[in-house]
Amino acid sequence: MILIFLGPPGSGKGTQAKLLAEKLKIAHISLGDLLREEVRIGSVIGKQAKAMMDAGKLVPDELTIELAQNRIKKDDCRRGFIMDGFPRSAAQADAFDKMLAQNKLTLGAAVYFAVDEEPLVKRLLLRAQLEGRADDTESVIRTRFEVYAKQTAPLIEHYKKIGKLVEIDAARPIDQVTKELFALEAIASVL
Ligand code: ADP
Repeated sequence: MILIFLGPPGSGKGTQAKLLAEKLKIAHISLGDLLREEVRIGSVIGKQAKAMMDAGKLVPDELTIELAQNRIKKDDCRRGFIMDGFPRSAAQADAFDKMLAQNKLTLGAAVYFAVDEEPLVKRLLLRAQLEGRADDTESVIRTRFEVYAKQTAPLIEHYKKIGKLVEIDAARPIDQVTKELFALEAIASVL
């Protein structure tokens, strides 16, 4: 089972991806986590990515595409995986379509976590206080939403067009979103 989780910053897709990946015994691939790890170990990719991440902008497509490409080849992806935070641009979506085709893999669904922006900004500011992430200040949060609207939101149309989009209401409490997610036809059929 191969899934893409799509949605604005703070929509809870990371939390839900972790839960669902455990349930389905598939890999959870968070591009944000992969990038933060590159920054932590001080790799070439990490060094190129850090400034963009701190500013709330997308790191260059070729870096994230390379990370994603290498990651899906690992053993723990053989049963499938959830892509959380990738693709995030048209070029990444294109590259991902090609990656899947080259590896003879089929996308199960792109799950869109639909939720309004204002409550999310509040959610992220609260998370900033709790976790102290460098990209969680108010102005960086605003930039991340602008980047999302401009570069990532158009992917919703892409997956709709190819008949892979499913939408869930991400404004509700975590456990209710989980319930709705597990009940989606594409997912319930393999549980
Ligand atoms: P969130 O979903 O809350 O915005 P993430 O942890 O997914 O946070 O990502 C943090 C940052 O990492 C992003 O703001 C961006 O700079 C970078 N990033 C993550 N995924 C990608 C991607 N697919 N393409 C480009 N940059 C990315």
